[in-house]
Amino acid sequence: MGIFRSIRRSRLIRQGLLPDDAWAWLREDHPILDGLGDEELARLRELATLFLREKVFEGADGLELTDAMREVISVQACLPILHLGLESYENWKTLVVVPDVFIQEHKEFDQAGVAHEWDEDKSGESWDSGPVVLSWKDVEASGWGDGYNVIIHEAAHRLDLLDGEINGRPALHRGMSPVEWGEVFAAAYENLKRRVSRKKRRLRIDSYAVEDDAEFFAVASEYFFEQPEVLKGEYPDVYRLLSAYYLQDPQARRKKPAGGA
Ligand SMILES: [Zn+2]
Repeated sequence: MGIFRSIRRSRLIRQGLLPDDAWAWLREDHPILDGLGDEELARLRELATLFLREKVFEGADGLELTDAMREVISVQACLPILHLGLESYENWKTLVVVPDVFIQEHKEFDQAGVAHEWDEDKSGESWDSGPVVLSWKDVEASGWGDGYNVIIHEAAHRLDLLDGEINGRPALHRGMSPVEWGEVFAAAYENLKRRVSRKKRRLRIDSYAVEDDAEFFAVASEYFFEQPEVLKGEYPDVYRLLSAYYLQDPQARRKKPAGGA
């Protein structure tokens, strides 16, 4: 981090962290934070404060953004980067929040030149360098520890993109093998794809993960933080590599008695 940014961030922190009352209910309303130690919670509070101040939040389609809404988004967005640092979101400047799932219009021409148009329901969207769009309704459904998290999903796409390519593999730390990452994720992806295609099987992981490599990484990241025991049970090697990348072990900390101690 540059010296000027470092000074500016220290100043932002000195101006005040997220207020005590906000921090208290944010912790209470986010079971995915259970098991974090005091030091990690303090770090998360600092990151969320900086995220809140540095990113641009915009309400759209009639949504009036409140401080509480911004805080809910910030704290969840900062959980994945707890040990990666805010620099990992350098490519993420603006968040647009809309009230509900939005419709994305697609239009494609086939080889015969015939136009095909269809609509797709979206709860979140991450364009290459543009804003991250989030549906507030889906934000409200995130963070409860039930496997779904639109903020972590979109954040994972941003982390994936940091090395210039959205391919389901973020910039790995020194000592991590891109080959191993590729093999482990491809095997899990193919396995889930097979299970999705045999429709009768029950699935514990959202089938949206088999859209492509990037979605698999984003959905696996949601489970990693929301329901780590599910991901570890289904795909232990994926869990292990995500743990090495995010530098966290949510499954181990959840097993501890709840609370920040
Ligand atoms: Zn996605």
